Amino acid sequence: MSPSLLILGGTTEASNLALVLADRGIRAIFSYAGRVGKPRAQPVPVRVGGFGGVAGLAGYLRDNAITHVIDATHPFAAGMSRNAVQACAATGIPLVALTRPQWHPVAGDQWRDIADIESAVTALSGPPKRVFLALGRMHLAAFKAQPQHHYLLRLVDDPDTPPLPNCHLVVARGPFDVQGDMALMQRHDTQLIVCKNAGGAGAQAKLEAARALHLPVLMIARPDLPPRRELVTPQQVLDWLDHPATDLGV
Ligand code: NAP
Repeated sequence: MSPSLLILGGTTEASNLALVLADRGIRAIFSYAGRVGKPRAQPVPVRVGGFGGVAGLAGYLRDNAITHVIDATHPFAAGMSRNAVQACAATGIPLVALTRPQWHPVAGDQWRDIADIESAVTALSGPPKRVFLALGRMHLAAFKAQPQHHYLLRLVDDPDTPPLPNCHLVVARGPFDVQGDMALMQRHDTQLIVCKNAGGAGAQAKLEAARALHLPVLMIARPDLPPRRELVTPQQVLDWLDHPATDLGV
């Protein structure tokens, strides 16, 4: 039977995989959560919106005769990733994650490791600072609990209302570069960066900029996920499709 893939998307890695699959004529459906106003166009058919939990996803996989699932969601999209593990286990459909290696500090970095968003909010207790909150839109409201700071935000979409009372919003979509990120932080007198350990090249510029400017970073750790096979390149996904039993564990 020829493969019919479901790509759980929303990342650059997912888009790169879709290109490779389309080039090779491998059937795939690309799934967006529907959080972003104008999602990137894809060279394969696209569906948008949640599946309705584990049962909804399992039903979708069966109804659409999906043979393989590629979880290429963001490393912090833990709900979708957990659902994918469970739905694939329930239906017997093979699953891999296409993900990015985490970032690790190098000489010159001043990182403080933080367990989760809630702990990042607590870590911001103290006198006012100019904080670059490089987190995306979803968890910004939690930082209302630390209203003393000025927050620099960079989001893909312009929200209808300012997410935080004392903030400056930049609307931009990555990838970003080091010179641009240094200029941004200097322009806004940034004193501290808060970000998630997303990994990948497109969002790494802010870390190199922080190093160059000797700025501290609160680095939020990735959520724990159930065990699953993780791959890091589209070629590894192609190899896995050809030889699903091969141990390509990363
Ligand atoms: P999440 O908390 O893991 O997912 C919440 C629910 O959203 C899921 O249970 C699912 O709903 C739906 N969903 C998520 N990803 C989906 C997809 N690709 N296709 C269809 N439904 C999806 O996810 P999140 O953190 O809200 O992230 C949402 C999307 O934004 C993801 O696709 C992710 O790749 C992208 N993203 C997330 C972050 C981040 O930091 N979290 C950053 C950049 C991009 P049902 O239960 O109804 O199926």
